[in-house]
Amino acid sequence: DKTTKGATTPAGAPATGDKAGQPKIRITGLRKSFGDNEVLSGIDLDVQPGEVVCVIGPSGSGKSTMLRCINRLEEPTSGDIVIDGESICAPGADVDRIRRHLGMVFQQFNLFPHYSVRENLTYAPVQLKLMGQAEADKVAMDLLARVGMADKADAMPRSLSGGQQQRVAIARALAMQPDIMLFDEPTSALDPEMVHEVLDVMRELADDGMTMVIVTHEMGFAHDVADRVIFIDGGVIVEQGDPEQVMHHPRNERTKSFLSKVL
Ligand code: ADP
Ligand code: MG
Repeated sequence: DKTTKGATTPAGAPATGDKAGQPKIRITGLRKSFGDNEVLSGIDLDVQPGEVVCVIGPSGSGKSTMLRCINRLEEPTSGDIVIDGESICAPGADVDRIRRHLGMVFQQFNLFPHYSVRENLTYAPVQLKLMGQAEADKVAMDLLARVGMADKADAMPRSLSGGQQQRVAIARALAMQPDIMLFDEPTSALDPEMVHEVLDVMRELADDGMTMVIVTHEMGFAHDVADRVIFIDGGVIVEQGDPEQVMHHPRNERTKSFLSKVL
């Protein structure tokens, strides 16, 4: 329900101690360079609990780098990223613990090839002693049912289609019980006929209130599911807002030019 999700609190609302009104993700002044190539040139972004943010923009504009900074797969050059009130950039930050709030799904599914579907879901939670094997198996079967893959629990990844593998990859991320999901072009490697089955799973997650940041070229999906669309170009947020406004009534010339090529 777009009217209740992602409601923002007034700027400067006092911290109440119970995390009310606190963004799930707060990015401030994020810069990232590789050598002398500055890829992110000052990103500021708050994502509210339950909000679905779709990130669009041309290839090479820094979208993946931004996502990878959010869970510290890349180290920011400067700026800060705060997850649930905790900086992941502060010296001594417990990155492994903070990262457990965050599930990530990539373009390439990267399932463990020698493990069954179910074992792909149970491996990390059991290794990290978050659950015993029996509980992990139960959680895995519930999640596989949720993504329509329960009947493939004992299959090996190579026997699955790309769309099925990506649904398993989403379930595997959910098995860590994250409260934020990051998606980096999750359907870009799929044959066209398999795109919708993955988008449907993501749409259900959004409806269930998951906080999500989704880099995507699926413009129809972004329009329908996002609470907010962000257009990134040249390492900065050029334009953002309501999907209908950004995608069908863009104000910035660069947004207009990009959308004219992809819509
Ligand atoms: P997008 O996801 O929007 O296509 P990326 O964030 O992947 O863009 O990349 C932005 C720029 O950063 C590109 O010029 C890319 O070559 C560069 N880049 C990304 N990762 C690295 C890296 N690990 N080392 C050097 N350059 C990188
Ligand atoms: Mg990318």
